[in-house]
Amino acid sequence: VRARVMEVTESPEVSYEDIGGLEEQMQEVRETVEMPLEKPDAFEDVGIDPPSGVLLYGPPGTGKTMLAKAVANQTDATFIKMAGSELVHKFIGEGAKLVRDLFDVAREHEPAVIFIDEIDAIAAKRTESKTSGDAEVQRTMMQLLSEMDGFEDRGEIRIIAATNRFDMLDRAILRPGRFDRLIEVPKPNDEGREIIFDIHTRDMNVADGVDFAQLADDAEEASGADIKAVCTEAGMFAIRDDRTEIQMQDFHNAWEKVQADSDETDDISK
Ligand code: ATP
Repeated sequence: VRARVMEVTESPEVSYEDIGGLEEQMQEVRETVEMPLEKPDAFEDVGIDPPSGVLLYGPPGTGKTMLAKAVANQTDATFIKMAGSELVHKFIGEGAKLVRDLFDVAREHEPAVIFIDEIDAIAAKRTESKTSGDAEVQRTMMQLLSEMDGFEDRGEIRIIAATNRFDMLDRAILRPGRFDRLIEVPKPNDEGREIIFDIHTRDMNVADGVDFAQLADDAEEASGADIKAVCTEAGMFAIRDDRTEIQMQDFHNAWEKVQADSDETDDISK
């Protein structure tokens, strides 16, 4: 069971240079996750506790998982990921045990970064979620809180959680000693989008005259994940046309396609 819900990666291959437009967020993650792993003495000398857990919140596809992976990479830590939804829906009755396993695995692999995606699936306010009244979900959340509370000697384990639904969270998980450091990860602005285009076209054969500033301007509302999809689609348009160089028009067509695809997905999920 463990292996199927947990993704365990020794030092994942994502670095800070792969992340665009999140300078402040990166800085905060470095201070709150990287520093305590690399210089635990600094906190001890000054006499403060490092934050217990860090919560990243913001829209889908903005780089939350990337941030967590990059910090694990930077600190040569094992990256252990689990999705809240899988914790409670995949193996009914196993949620609390899986949480225990998660921390056991982290202790076996120190230094480790535990990343819990979709934390809202196990930590929604009772009034707002249909499932949170579910005893199973409650038990899973209690187990998580007790692991965190009883985690005095946290050693070389850091915990990061992520959510797209900050408003839905039970405030109990945000108390001191739990997820007490909140970092908002928003969609990129103009400048951020341009940097993200640069990052994702690094290895692409892009024609002279492709204007990333213009593309960034056109792709308003795009997340980092959308921009990644646009770059791949643009490459597909070039291939279909039997070209090896990607032109401005390919990017325009790709952006249209990515938008159309996401409208379609919205319709399906309604
Ligand atoms: P979700 O909430 O849906 O889990 P997320 O915020 O964790 O999303 P990621 O998994 O980090 O999003 O991003 C998905 C992909 O989108 C990344 O693998 C990367 O290719 C691209 N991406 C997202 N944000 C950025 C960014 N800021 N810079 C560069 N690439 C990005």
